[in-house]
Amino acid sequence: MSVKVFANQEVQDLLEAATNLGSNSGNARAKQITHRLLSDLFKAIDDLDMTPDEIWAGVNFTNRLGQDGEAALLAAGLGLEKYLDIRMDAADRQAEIDGGTPRTIEGPLYVEGAPVRDGMSKIDLDADPNAGPLVIRGAVTGPDGKPLAGAVVECWHANSKGFYSHFDPTDAQSAFNLRGAVRTGQDGTYEFRTLMPVGYGCPPQGSTQQLLNLLARHGNRSAHLHFFVTSNGLRKLTTQINIEGDPLIWDDFAYATREGLIPPVTEKTGGTALGLKVDTYKEIEFNFALTPMVQGKDNQLVNRLRATVAV
Ligand code: FE
Repeated sequence: MSVKVFANQEVQDLLEAATNLGSNSGNARAKQITHRLLSDLFKAIDDLDMTPDEIWAGVNFTNRLGQDGEAALLAAGLGLEKYLDIRMDAADRQAEIDGGTPRTIEGPLYVEGAPVRDGMSKIDLDADPNAGPLVIRGAVTGPDGKPLAGAVVECWHANSKGFYSHFDPTDAQSAFNLRGAVRTGQDGTYEFRTLMPVGYGCPPQGSTQQLLNLLARHGNRSAHLHFFVTSNGLRKLTTQINIEGDPLIWDDFAYATREGLIPPVTEKTGGTALGLKVDTYKEIEFNFALTPMVQGKDNQLVNRLRATVAV
């Protein structure tokens, strides 16, 4: 059985009624978007001749996705978050903004409220015997290439088990372990002393992985660190750097890897003098270049629900 009913007046009337398009009250934008998305869904049901069983499997999946708290994880895994970056990149080209550190996705694991320190922050609060020391340092520059004083670099990353504090299913990490923020001084430099992260995957029993399994996709990311970089009068940068050599760098389930975000990792000695747990450590130098506002506005500032922990 394959029927085509989408174009029927009855269906079009139903779409209008369900989204209350005929009324002037309510939120016009919400009505516009809901009408479009519902119409596209109805059309897809017709085109693909989706069965009721398939529709209810999708409805039930949506329920479970919410119970698992994984909607934002799925948004990353299905490329929705990457698509928003592709659109912002295109908007930048249209506004003739070039240069600047490439943006990449935020992901769902940021926590607000990490302490801000001047110049340097040691963010490995909990012992992690399986992770070696890592120093990340560099400078923040503005559109003129000059160092920015008073810029804030926020960093967050996983531990050697691939878990983030606050979201750790083993509850083994203190609040703000491997999370911190540094305010740059006159020379624009920042430094984080931390531990080497490893890659991680979606919760294996979660609804995101369940869907990825149907698509024959893995749900893993290569080792990486997340950053926000902010400075008054410039656009907020959301980005990540990858740890070079990780086999999944170009096979990231969230499509976050970009050229320009895989800095070299060098081996150094002298860690003991820096307060690191062993003398030999890894170092990454990475500079952040911020970009100007567009018509006086930060058009890459994203509002989304983020976890908060009271300090
Ligand atoms: Fe991450």
